[in-house]
Amino acid sequence: MAMRIARGDAACAPHQADMAHQKPTGAPQTPEVKRRRAQAAPKTLDKLHRNPVPRAPLRANRLRRHPAQTAPPELGGWRSYTITFVCMSQRPVQALALPDDLVVLQRDWLSSNNLLCLGEQAAIVDTGHVKHAAQTVRRVRAVLGTQPLATIAHTHLHSDHCGGTGALQAAWPTATTWVPEPSLDAVQRWDEDALSFDGTGQRCARFGADRALVPGQPVRLGAHDWQVHAAPGHDSLAVLLFEPRHGILVSGDALWEHGVGVIFPHIDGSAGFEPFNETLDVIERLAPEIVIPGHGAPFGRAGGAIDAALGRARERIATFQAQPAQHALYAAKVLIKYQMLDVDAMTHADFERWLNAAPSLHLLHRQHRPDLDWPSWLAHVLAPMFGKGVLQRDATHVRDGN
Ligand SMILES: [Zn+2]
Repeated sequence: MAMRIARGDAACAPHQADMAHQKPTGAPQTPEVKRRRAQAAPKTLDKLHRNPVPRAPLRANRLRRHPAQTAPPELGGWRSYTITFVCMSQRPVQALALPDDLVVLQRDWLSSNNLLCLGEQAAIVDTGHVKHAAQTVRRVRAVLGTQPLATIAHTHLHSDHCGGTGALQAAWPTATTWVPEPSLDAVQRWDEDALSFDGTGQRCARFGADRALVPGQPVRLGAHDWQVHAAPGHDSLAVLLFEPRHGILVSGDALWEHGVGVIFPHIDGSAGFEPFNETLDVIERLAPEIVIPGHGAPFGRAGGAIDAALGRARERIATFQAQPAQHALYAAKVLIKYQMLDVDAMTHADFERWLNAAPSLHLLHRQHRPDLDWPSWLAHVLAPMFGKGVLQRDATHVRDGN
């Protein structure tokens, strides 16, 4: 099998592209945390290898349909990458292929995708949201069978990328857990402020960490050595993982096919939009053949999908740079939607309490429309969300919508 994608929670949902503009996660920090994160963030991007590893040819035409009835019932059937690709983009089928030992579990917008790297020491990259933790363990077990999970690695520690880590560690207690270097200490102390869970009231089950992902120091995941590159922008401490022989990039939230994530360092004032562009420069220089993003379907160089994604991301960042208030409005909607994806429904009183208690929303209020008072601003942000059905409300509750 060239590449398998387990049936995702919304693998072919037609609204995926729209949802890409509602990507959440992260939080503002206290001044002390902000200072530490700013200090910890790499000042310059790590240099690319001067002598790139020769690439193994990607084996095209290896994509095959896998009838659902032959697939593990746990997963509801495998779907081939080709099928998902067509569903997502409505473009002609592309000849994309991953090595047989890489398995993408495509998830939704509350949980990040998970990449399983098979081999003698099986590894997973990113673990989804805590709400889906049990499902994540089931899916990983369905792929690994009786083989233990040896390694858990993270592109960054937003709650939708590390929420399943605690459950995976409970299921496979001998697994070694890797996190971006500047976060290692905060994870070991479980400092929820430094880890950015407190600021937005997002939740993440506690987990441990053993090893640091350091830009410039390769890490073995499954059967391949992966380069680690700093990827500030969406998150100051994020990393990219790049497998140079096949040209496979795990981009986390640094690059999706459609849309860009919230630029969290801009919300708390620790950085601007430019680091996001610098990370796009790094991706361009790496020239990946296939990008496995944190959300949405993988996409490839063939057919120009990667170049198009880079172009769209740069355009979006340029818009934010020209009109930062647009980013603030976008980020506010994302954070509210993310909360509702997690909780499904809240009473009106609880919803109002959550809004009032989210420090990030107050920062965004000031960045977007300081001329409005808080209740007027909330009404201004929420009206189109209710109007478009992104959120719904009845007499007693606010509910997640479409
Ligand atoms: Zn993120």
